[in-house]
Amino acid sequence: AGLVIAMDGPAGSGKSTVAKRVSDTLGLDYLDTGSMYRAATVRLQELGIDLHNSDACTAAVGKMRFAPAHDPYSGQILVDGKDVQSLIRTEEVSAVVSFVATNLAIRKIMVAAQQQIISDSVSQGRGIVAEGRDITTVVAPEAPVRVVVTASPETRLARRAGELGTSAQAESVRDAVLRRDRDDATVAQFEEPAEGVVLLDTTDLSIEEATAEIVKLAIV
Ligand code: C5P
Repeated sequence: AGLVIAMDGPAGSGKSTVAKRVSDTLGLDYLDTGSMYRAATVRLQELGIDLHNSDACTAAVGKMRFAPAHDPYSGQILVDGKDVQSLIRTEEVSAVVSFVATNLAIRKIMVAAQQQIISDSVSQGRGIVAEGRDITTVVAPEAPVRVVVTASPETRLARRAGELGTSAQAESVRDAVLRRDRDDATVAQFEEPAEGVVLLDTTDLSIEEATAEIVKLAIV
């Protein structure tokens, strides 16, 4: 009990799908830190705060309370008591979330909130799979299992397009994924993971195979 598994990776790497499976398989809590950055973004917009005004954004995020579900398949996330699950996965939010995520003062607040969620889970004897962009390096650098999930650019684009719908949308998905890679590059570099981090390339792996690889790391 009390195991922490840290997982990072870019959009379309299979990270989220696999993280949920690992959490389900091992009976660990699940934390999607990206959902917290998305929820903060939605809440800032709801409050009418200009996303370019980094001081105002920082002050507002510092007062927010985030409650993401522990269940990997719930998807629920409360911010200040309100469920924003249905609002956070839009293309509009994906396009602007990096404004919030590249604000270093906001990152400090989010990292502290995420570390609290992780330590609560551990101290309550459950353990957790936490996924994001800076979990293996900043949020939980001491986690006994740390994995960076990658896939070839072609595979990542194809997976994202598949998630979002028809091939007519493929080009806009491609643009959006490439733009977010560029925006997120200031946050995380996945080509060279930190020491002690396992690099898992899922290009030629099924979801089951990728899940099994990580479960194996957790069990030995
Ligand atoms: O994982 P997801 O694509 O939902 O994350 C949304 C955005 O949140 C990312 O594009 C990134 O800008 C930001 N993020 C982050 N650090 C994390 C998780 C997400 O900066 N740990």
